[in-house]
Amino acid sequence: MKDLIVLGSTGSIGTQTLTVARKLGIRITGLAAGSNYKLLEEQAREFMPKSVAMFDENAAKKLKIALSDTDIKVFSGKDGINAVATGDGDIVLCAIVGIAGLDSTLKAIEAGKDIALANKETLVTGGRLVKQKIKEKKVKLLPVDSEHSAIFQSLQGAPAGSLKKILLTASGGPFFGKTYNELKSVTVKDALNHPNWSMGSKITIDSATLMNKGLEVIEAVHLFDVSPEQIEVLVHRQSILHSAVELSDGAVIAELGTPDMKVPIQYALTYPDRGVTFEHLSLTDIKTLTFEKPDMKLFKCLPICIEAIRRGGLYPTMINGANEEAVSLFLNGKIGFLQIAEIIEKSLDLSPVKNDFTLEDVYETDKFARETVRNLIKG
Ligand code: NAD
Ligand code: MG
Repeated sequence: MKDLIVLGSTGSIGTQTLTVARKLGIRITGLAAGSNYKLLEEQAREFMPKSVAMFDENAAKKLKIALSDTDIKVFSGKDGINAVATGDGDIVLCAIVGIAGLDSTLKAIEAGKDIALANKETLVTGGRLVKQKIKEKKVKLLPVDSEHSAIFQSLQGAPAGSLKKILLTASGGPFFGKTYNELKSVTVKDALNHPNWSMGSKITIDSATLMNKGLEVIEAVHLFDVSPEQIEVLVHRQSILHSAVELSDGAVIAELGTPDMKVPIQYALTYPDRGVTFEHLSLTDIKTLTFEKPDMKLFKCLPICIEAIRRGGLYPTMINGANEEAVSLFLNGKIGFLQIAEIIEKSLDLSPVKNDFTLEDVYETDKFARETVRNLIKG
């Protein structure tokens, strides 16, 4: 088993990763997260990694005091997160939320680590740069996002060049089937109430707007070298078929299971081997699997993302930045649910130049997108 570093260890994916590690007896060499020092202390005492880090400086100070009776090194800030990402360990599970996860992922690749990637915003904003580095360093990039893991699993054994189309499934979120008027008055609480998955708040809102599926289209373009036109999004309310591929002979191959992120997390950590069963799927209990077209008119975030990746360059970075800002404004009660998509749509018109961009361009574009959104709301 490879030694594992977990970035974003206190979050939904992070804690489930530690459940998998506990079950499989995987050694943890590094843990890093934002500000929840109490949980990080608990995790550190259980797994005894070599180093830990908190992004928040004050939380790091408290953690350092709490762990002063151990040999665990405690780091702080962005540099501290990067120190953990590049420390001892073979594979890094990247589960920080948002573009905040991009830098440490790039640093981990640079340090020669394999990457198990949950943080889709990393590929949405810096996909080209990440892929270049992966190639250069000859490390593995293993998807953790359930749909992309399903696609990856379905492609095992498929000859190169045989992938014709990706069938990307979406649960439809809590607001599937609602009308425009109904969506006008939904609350933060309604939006946080996902029917099938229990996740962090940002991705839960993204699931309600269908932005999550849009980000996943962009993620799939990067991971599987397909065009956006080769991806069909299907609303599949039961979240049992986690995505499928259509091969050159028309055969459709899918991965099915209960909605449980521990399965794709485990596969990324044990690949190409198979791990243990967490929950058995009974198809006769489920009985019916349904598939429908998404409502692209009402849930505008999905077509906006498809348009952004079609245009390429820094467009995906722009809409991602606008979305991160808009979701945070929505969660803080500053804007309504439907405004999220309106704001992101406006950011598509900001026409970022350059196709051959650098990491600095990515951060500048992100900053510009966020500032523009904040000014829009103030004005
Ligand atoms: P979450 O909000 O539950 O957890 C986020 C983690 O990142 C926390 O540990 C937090 O402390 C840490 N963090 C936040 N900002 C940080 C910073 N600046 N520096 C260091 N750490 C920071 O989110 P989540 O639901 O676990 O999602 C994590 C990522 O995985 C997201 O990109 C999401 O899209 C992706 N993902 C999640 C799920 C899921 O089921 N939760 C499924 C697929 C993909
Ligand atoms: Mg997903």
